[in-house]
Amino acid sequence: MKILVLNSGSSSQKSALYEILGTLPEHPPTPAWQGKIEWDGDQADIQAQNSQGAQLEARLKVASRSNAIEQMLDTLWNGKVRAVSDPSEIDVVGHRIVHGGKEFEEATVITPQVKSAIARMAVFAPLHNRAELEGIELIEKRLGNLPQVAVFDTGFHSHLPEAAAVYPGPFEWLAQGIRRYGFHGINHQYCAGRAEQLLGRELNSLKLVTCHLGNGCSLAAIRHGRSTDTTMGFTPLDGLMMGTRSGSLDPGILTYLMREENSTGKHLDDLLNTKSGLLGISGISGDMRQIVASMKNGNPRAKLAFEMFVHHLQSGIGAMIAALGGMDALVFTAGIGENSPELRAAACANFRFLGLKLDSAKNVPYSVDQDISLPGSVVRVLIIRAQEDWAIARDCWRLVSVKSSERADAS
Ligand code: ADP
Repeated sequence: MKILVLNSGSSSQKSALYEILGTLPEHPPTPAWQGKIEWDGDQADIQAQNSQGAQLEARLKVASRSNAIEQMLDTLWNGKVRAVSDPSEIDVVGHRIVHGGKEFEEATVITPQVKSAIARMAVFAPLHNRAELEGIELIEKRLGNLPQVAVFDTGFHSHLPEAAAVYPGPFEWLAQGIRRYGFHGINHQYCAGRAEQLLGRELNSLKLVTCHLGNGCSLAAIRHGRSTDTTMGFTPLDGLMMGTRSGSLDPGILTYLMREENSTGKHLDDLLNTKSGLLGISGISGDMRQIVASMKNGNPRAKLAFEMFVHHLQSGIGAMIAALGGMDALVFTAGIGENSPELRAAACANFRFLGLKLDSAKNVPYSVDQDISLPGSVVRVLIIRAQEDWAIARDCWRLVSVKSSERADAS
């Protein structure tokens, strides 16, 4: 089965093609093809590569987002990085959908009703859900009537207990859809399954805290394989300090700025999403690599940004441990979580009182998924590579295989 995955972000678009022969492999296979676009005004940087090692990098003028995606997908069946000889070889396309609201707990085959629901949820995540709908429509236009599957970033958190999900504002908010949804669920769930494999223990018996630390950052408290609390909320702005996003702050700051400086919603949205976090504090960058490098060069604002990031992360981990009533393993994943030994060491330092002992010889940049705690550590510490695209491909495989076997049974 050839599975194409489209994973759209607000300023980037990742894509991968997986080829599954026979049964589903236990570990993520190398994609047959990968593509990426990063937007920069009306220009886009397009990268593509196939599993034979052929690569393409181009900076192109693009008329629209869809046009850029079309150009990236063209490399999949045309030119030197091609991985299929014809688009009709693709069996199913999976999409990461950021907001599924309360309606979608599980991955689902896309129908006109599902598309309408994704469009309805766009009021909660306008940039993401609209971009994802464009991706679905582009595939309909280019590849015709093949099955498409939606996998929701909110799905894994859809069983949060009410005490964690309901905001302490007016009760009527809940009926309006204002509640904690949580995001990054595709990767938090994948990490839970991978932790089960690495620890050799049943997921049902584990209390896990997963730390997804990339450009966006969130934690999940996972008990019996289910998300029981998480730091992102109604939007992906809540919770931890991030690259350019503030995370949680006193809502009184916003009403103060609206009252005293006539700040508009649009201005505050921009401030909190793109000019805050590591970038806002350091004034240098939202990229942790540059923060750590500047901190080592003695830059005091980079040092403050790093220390604040650690402080908010530790507070969040503490809250997740309290929600779980314990912690068997702490999992680090995504760009910062996988690659920054400094950050992992700093984050773990205050949890020594729980018997967590990091192995400094193993706490190095990512090589493979592994346990980086000492043998006597009461709490295990794991690094797990984020594999959202593979997690989406697996859901596509399961849904489409079930459909085919149902068809076979019926005939
Ligand atoms: P996204 O959330 O967009 O998928 P990633 O998971 O790729 O992003 O994470 C991107 C972040 O990872 C970058 O902003 C950067 O701060 C961080 N990062 C990547 N490599 C390193 C590294 N070697 N050390 C520290 N941070 C890193």
